[in-house]
Amino acid sequence: MTDTEAFSLVDILAARNVLRGIADATPFVPSPFMTDRTGHDFLLKLENMQPIGAFKLRGALNAVMKLPEGTAGVTCCSTGNHGRGVAYAAAQRGMRAAICMSELVPQAKVDGIRALGAEVRIRGRSQDDALAESQRLVQAEGLVEISPFDDPHVIAGQGTIGFEMMEARPDLDTILVPLSGGGLAAGVAVAAKSVNPRVRVIGITMDRGAAMHASLAAGRPVEVEEVPSLADSLGGGIGMENRLSFPLCQEYLDDTVLVTEDEIYHAMQVLFYEDRIVAEGACVVGIAAMLAGKLPEPRGPVGTIITGRNLDMGLFHRIMAGEDVELGDKTVKGQRYGA
Ligand SMILES: *Cc1c(COP(=O)(O)O)cnc(C)c1O
Repeated sequence: MTDTEAFSLVDILAARNVLRGIADATPFVPSPFMTDRTGHDFLLKLENMQPIGAFKLRGALNAVMKLPEGTAGVTCCSTGNHGRGVAYAAAQRGMRAAICMSELVPQAKVDGIRALGAEVRIRGRSQDDALAESQRLVQAEGLVEISPFDDPHVIAGQGTIGFEMMEARPDLDTILVPLSGGGLAAGVAVAAKSVNPRVRVIGITMDRGAAMHASLAAGRPVEVEEVPSLADSLGGGIGMENRLSFPLCQEYLDDTVLVTEDEIYHAMQVLFYEDRIVAEGACVVGIAAMLAGKLPEPRGPVGTIITGRNLDMGLFHRIMAGEDVELGDKTVKGQRYGA
């Protein structure tokens, strides 16, 4: 049996029991503005309201709770939100956590992780450098590494989001999932299609440094250059040795769609000014793709996942004020909302 055949709705339902009362049951609410634009109900799954401000708590908690008694501790490499999830989950079990990340991670995310009592280790300018440090800690100190996306318990935890969405709205036609390493998309797609095989699940990501999109196109994991993005949580590779999230995305995703930094900038303004929600650039890619006319015509209700709110508030203020934003060597030209 291959890994993808071994993974099913059963794993997701088991994760539901682990998460119950701690990291589940986030609101799933309509966006009147997007509903008006789309011509069908357009619903937002508010994972920004999780205790750590992002959905990654689901997968991390499920994985950490599965570890045997007496485990020395846990480690991971993370663009921030997975690290926060692992730190929170480890604290729940009174376990040591060492979180490794690259210099590209915003300070707000680093501070958030330290506040949860975890050790933070900053290494290099890419996710791969951070990963190397995490693997060193496994060898040298016996910590257990928890992958942000390529782990069956993590994918099952993220999948509970898809199950909750289908439970609330069995009539969903399309689910728009922010896509990076694909743990979220894989879990959500397996859950949703187990409930209704006709539901369309589309992964959405930024057009620069989209590792899963490039890998799906190539038919195998490929490396892409990591560049700064408003959707920083979607950065990073999928791992050249990817075992589960890549094949699951290959099998279950209907399509992947790319959005530009300008489209992300505008969609962040839409989510705040129309729905009064503060969220990361990574969360609005579904809204961005819909507004840019990049998606197939929906045949019924559409749901997207507002994956997290852990962004730098200085950056958020600049975007809401319509100011220019520098992303490394690229400038995203500012535009006042509604102007
Ligand atoms: C991790 C993350 C994603 C993408 O999840 P993957 O499982 O890596 O595809 C999307 N949004 C936010 C806010 C995240 O932290």
